[in-house]
Amino acid sequence: MKTRRIFRAAVALLFALCVVAADLPPLSLAPQTASAVTQADIDKLKKESNALASKKSNVTKELNALKKDKANTLKRKSLLDQQIVLISDEIAVTEQQIAQYEALIEQTENELNEAQAQEAEQYQLFCKRVRAMEERGTVSYWSVLFQAASFEEMLGALDFISEVMEADQRVIDDLRVLQEQIAAKQATLEDSLAEQQSAKEQLAAKNSELRDQRTEATSLIKEMEENEADYREVLAEIEAEEEKTQKEIVRLSKELAAQQGNTKVTYGGYIWPVTTSKRVTSPFGRRNTGIKGASTNHRGIDIGGVFYSSTVYAAKAGTVIISSSNSVRGQYIVVSHGSGNTTTYQHLSKRSVSVGAVVKQGQAIGVTGSSGVGSGPHLHFEITENGQLVDPLKYLTDYVKAWR
Ligand SMILES: [Zn+2]
Repeated sequence: MKTRRIFRAAVALLFALCVVAADLPPLSLAPQTASAVTQADIDKLKKESNALASKKSNVTKELNALKKDKANTLKRKSLLDQQIVLISDEIAVTEQQIAQYEALIEQTENELNEAQAQEAEQYQLFCKRVRAMEERGTVSYWSVLFQAASFEEMLGALDFISEVMEADQRVIDDLRVLQEQIAAKQATLEDSLAEQQSAKEQLAAKNSELRDQRTEATSLIKEMEENEADYREVLAEIEAEEEKTQKEIVRLSKELAAQQGNTKVTYGGYIWPVTTSKRVTSPFGRRNTGIKGASTNHRGIDIGGVFYSSTVYAAKAGTVIISSSNSVRGQYIVVSHGSGNTTTYQHLSKRSVSVGAVVKQGQAIGVTGSSGVGSGPHLHFEITENGQLVDPLKYLTDYVKAWR
């Protein structure tokens, strides 16, 4: 009895479907959106990351060789600074990778939702057609239709009219295949994302480990400071090193000016070398180190509140005469503004100009940091005129006093 009823319904369906089939719009199975992010982008970043890792391992080797030698504290600190910069770059690259994976996953989820919506829509369309037939029709489909919980189940019940359903079934099958493909793709992407996230976590942990090592090196320096005799020795070393560099700066500046045919030298006209802060944490001139007989001559000003990320700009147009690093100044740049006139930028985490580069006033030349001798990130800025160091605050008058 039941079989007969289903059979009647099926025959009617067969007829009805043949009538309305021509009205059906074809379903598009093409991907809905082109991916904004590709695996190639990520691979490129991975390569970058590997290059950074190998640079870092070289620094680590050098560092390990020095580890137990207290006398090499300054050198050790400078290596740790280099390592921190490399690690920070690695973290930035990894974060970029993670962001790209997140974008890929979002795109994939959208594709998956789209496919599911298409399938649901197709089922709705089918039901609507059958209802339309019911309104017109001579045979009751309702019993058949409402016994099935889904299109799939109903197709199962009516499998003996599968030829009729063939076209629709094919669409549904295609949709299902697409859905599976998309789900598989998403699973792969989610795996990759988890991989990247764990890589990032490892890098972040490594970074904090390195920062700890740096703190340790800094506290070794402090220990040395507390030992007056040692510290006076270190200060004398630093002074001698600075004196030597200063002479070299003046010599280079004069040599360059001679090469350029001694164009007219102008004084003043400097702009702030950073735009993120005008807080001067240490002024120009003599300063007390807190240790008897161990005062030093501060050759420039320290600008604080710049972190490891402020862009450093040329304070005046000129030519780069030094772009280098040493254990006291860290990574530093000197720009010549005519014979005996220079500006110096120290403790950088990055330098983006090399010797001989002609820079405009306000041109980006590097990024702030804490390389060399100093506590925490700041920009040490010097001005030399006529071969003599002058107080930069004579020109940068709108500063914020942040020293005691
Ligand atoms: Zn300083």
